[in-house]
Amino acid sequence: MINEFVWKELVKELETKHVTLVAVSKTKPAEDIQSLYNLGQRDFGENYVQELVDKQATLPKDIRWHFIGHLQSNKVKSIAPFVHLIHAVDSYKLLQEINKQALKNDRVIDVLLQMHIADETTKFGMNADEIAELISNFEVEKESWGNVRIRGLMGMATFTDDELQIREEFARLHSMFKTIKQRNPQFMEQFDICSMGMSSDYKIAVEEGSTLVRIGSMLFGARN
Ligand SMILES: *Cc1c(COP(=O)(O)O)cnc(C)c1O
Repeated sequence: MINEFVWKELVKELETKHVTLVAVSKTKPAEDIQSLYNLGQRDFGENYVQELVDKQATLPKDIRWHFIGHLQSNKVKSIAPFVHLIHAVDSYKLLQEINKQALKNDRVIDVLLQMHIADETTKFGMNADEIAELISNFEVEKESWGNVRIRGLMGMATFTDDELQIREEFARLHSMFKTIKQRNPQFMEQFDICSMGMSSDYKIAVEEGSTLVRIGSMLFGARN
């Protein structure tokens, strides 16, 4: 079951702020996705490769599929033919594999680099130094990266009700996003996506400069 009213209100609220809404449909049935699609939603986010591959095969072909979970290198080939944006790139090795599989599919795949901003050690992502290093390597070897485009950063805040902490973490991510953009103007022309905010914290994320929110339970109901 989807919450049509909540979706409509959310779309209105985000549109005025030019923030993209990705509806996170992981674990939810294809019928729910189809219902939101019928209302006009086109961007959907999934966390599990096999689930995404199965849903993509049966649902409308103009859906923009976002892979938002942790991605293993050996699974890239399954989603490379169709994925719209890979949110959570956390290593050079993974980026190389995406470039390779994109080339095989004669595509350019857009990606975000995941920055670790939370307290919890369980959340994936790179620290600021690792991201800076990856980007400078990427720039040096630019010619070999014809099939991947780094479009921005993604991050997840700590799971806490301490609003100040969440705000501080999002601010840190957004400041890194701006720094990269300013330092690499020619290369980073298309560095324009700052993916942060979920059901519980998207308002804070938008206040701190998010350009894309990933919202699941608020639209589809709680997951088991
Ligand atoms: C599940 C998930 C979301 C959505 O979470 P909700 O709390 O259901 O809105 C957003 N981002 C990532 C990376 C997720 O895994």
